[in-house]
Amino acid sequence: MKQQKKLPSEAAEVTGLAPDEDVPTGPMQASSGLAETGDDPHAAPLAPGLYLVATPIGNLEDITLRAMRVLRESDCIACEDTRQTQKLLNHFGIRRPTVSCHQHNERERSEEILRLLRQGGRVAVVSDAGTPGISDPGMYLARAALEAGIRVIPVPGANAALASLVASGLDASRFLFVGFLPAKAGARRAALERLSALPDAEEPLTMVFYEAPHRIVETLADIERVWGGAVRVAAARELTKWHEEFLRGTAAEVRTALAARDRIRGEIVLLVEARRPAPDASKGSIAQRVEELISSEGLERKEALKRAARERGLSRSEAYRELQRS
Ligand code: SAM
Repeated sequence: MKQQKKLPSEAAEVTGLAPDEDVPTGPMQASSGLAETGDDPHAAPLAPGLYLVATPIGNLEDITLRAMRVLRESDCIACEDTRQTQKLLNHFGIRRPTVSCHQHNERERSEEILRLLRQGGRVAVVSDAGTPGISDPGMYLARAALEAGIRVIPVPGANAALASLVASGLDASRFLFVGFLPAKAGARRAALERLSALPDAEEPLTMVFYEAPHRIVETLADIERVWGGAVRVAAARELTKWHEEFLRGTAAEVRTALAARDRIRGEIVLLVEARRPAPDASKGSIAQRVEELISSEGLERKEALKRAARERGLSRSEAYRELQRS
């Protein structure tokens, strides 16, 4: 595996959209970068439209040939962070105007970008790393372009969620991309509780989370509270980079291994092979199960009731009524 290369120093940053008079009105017979039988995709100019271009998540060799062509031939590149993208463009010798389009200005910027697109422009959208629109800016612009009747074209490539899923060893036949959980402990636990109702009794549903290194141990502890310490997980760290690492095992094992480290660094995807609790867990009365959860897992009474309710497919109020009857 190759370490991310040191990139050449930045060239002068170009910001702002190309002036209107510079906008080429793409010819009718233009390519979207797709190789069609009998066509030389390199011969046809790029078709007008909005291109969502995936870029590497670490290893620069993960850029695709098509991504490079689209970036090279677009009129303008809308970037989450122009400086970050400029490094990538410099590395590949691509010189195109860039404009910033991030979480905080995506709406206003979309207006300017749409003006360019309506005039037949070709705009590439990139995020700092990976696939735009996946826990990154891009979705708003794509929707606005579609509403304006503009063609939206994906240029697929690197994505941390899919790369980690396929190498995790967890069941990848059905998965749910969740992205970032709330940073605050209470909201995070509530989000996990809601997610725990999703897997059906027959098959696991692998859940994919993006998580910050300083919260990973806490989040694993929450996962144990919701699905039990034996649930299978994988933590994929620094994918495609020099220090790429997978920690695979039960939630308790992976949490213990990470908690033993002085410091946890890098970017992490956390995957959980979530299942409905085993039928055994729902044997006995709800009161017994609540007591068991309090003593075995140290849960608060309220949390134990919530879990027992979920295990039995009951609402919290139904479980509460059952508890009062017993
Ligand atoms: N759009 C990106 C994608 O397609 O994967 C995701 C961007 S999101 C802002 C950043 C998060 O993705 C990180 O906090 C981490 O959870 C995950 N991530 C990105 N690159 C990664 C890598 N090389 N290794 C592990 N996780 C990564």
